[in-house]
Amino acid sequence: MEAKFCMACGQPLESRDIDGTPRRACTACSFVHWGNYSVGVGALVAKDGKVLLVRRAQEPGKGYWTNPGGYIEQLEPIDETIRREVFEESGVRASVKSVVALRDQPRSIHNVYIAFAMEYEGGDPTPDGVEVDGAGFYGPEEMERMNVAPFTRWLVDVALRGKSEGLAFDREPNPPMQGGRGFRA
Ligand SMILES: [Zn+2]
Repeated sequence: MEAKFCMACGQPLESRDIDGTPRRACTACSFVHWGNYSVGVGALVAKDGKVLLVRRAQEPGKGYWTNPGGYIEQLEPIDETIRREVFEESGVRASVKSVVALRDQPRSIHNVYIAFAMEYEGGDPTPDGVEVDGAGFYGPEEMERMNVAPFTRWLVDVALRGKSEGLAFDREPNPPMQGGRGFRA
């Protein structure tokens, strides 16, 4: 479905050529509707050769075991989002080490999913009882007998058998990024 009204001023949008690509653009202000995008974040918290998984209690994916995660918020840094999601869903405290995987899904809402390797800090896995109804650390053999989502199996393989540490979270980028977050090789 194409956008009809401006998200900034409410006036009608028109189709216009913007640098060679037809876009929906405002007839009254400078707003351009660039498209529909979402960014997901996922946590890979490994401990003793096992990975933290939760069982989804809601659609989409109800009944499947996945790694904890969610969608980014407008003004929340992604390392804080993923830390919060892990704690809310499982009661586990963990901090971001690096970016270890990325999935791109071009579709009606173009989604990019970023997976973080995270350091376990503490807390016994306890499901929140709303979003998820199970939580725990599981190894590959246990997962063979569990209803683990295919994408989560791919991520678990990265977590346990990845060939590099990925892009490390640069906590003090030089020069500074003015509130931006940096991950680097
Ligand atoms: Zn406008």
